[in-house]
Amino acid sequence: MIIDANFTHEECIAHFKCPTEILDSLVTLNVQYYDFEEQLHQGQIVVDKDIEEDVIQVFSLIKEIKFPVHSVIPIQVFSWDDDASMLANNSSAFNYRPIAGTNTLSLHSFGRAVDINPVQNPWYIRDEIHPPTGKYEPKAPGTLLKDGPIVQLFTSLGWEWGGDWISIKDYHHFQKPLQKK
Ligand SMILES: [Zn+2]
Repeated sequence: MIIDANFTHEECIAHFKCPTEILDSLVTLNVQYYDFEEQLHQGQIVVDKDIEEDVIQVFSLIKEIKFPVHSVIPIQVFSWDDDASMLANNSSAFNYRPIAGTNTLSLHSFGRAVDINPVQNPWYIRDEIHPPTGKYEPKAPGTLLKDGPIVQLFTSLGWEWGGDWISIKDYHHFQKPLQKK
């Protein structure tokens, strides 16, 4: 098995700007997945403890059906730079940052958003594509489809898929808004 990430939880959440109460709500999960050459990998993903079970379920399915995933590496390895992580086709969750181009905190800030294979599932806004090497081709392996098993499982668990958005299409992005208690 190829080990993509083997950090301590403390290393994965060493974000000096993030409030302690958010850091305290996070957990680092070890996940396994096959890559595009059908080699088994182990990576890590940092999420809100509240949605831990959902993410475990999704990665169990990803492994079971051999949905190819390039890598799952906590984004501190990319110095919290989402563009660098996307360019590397990396899948990740927690990153204390605003939604690109805004001052509003992204649900990634709370570990409640997960990005998968950004190159196969890029983010389209106006005439821009992120990452610039990305291309959404529904028949290509590793592509997320509205009627596909990954999107179906996420949405059945109450998550939103960025591929369902109208004004921008964020095909790699899933999020579960904070529930009102
Ligand atoms: Zn995202």
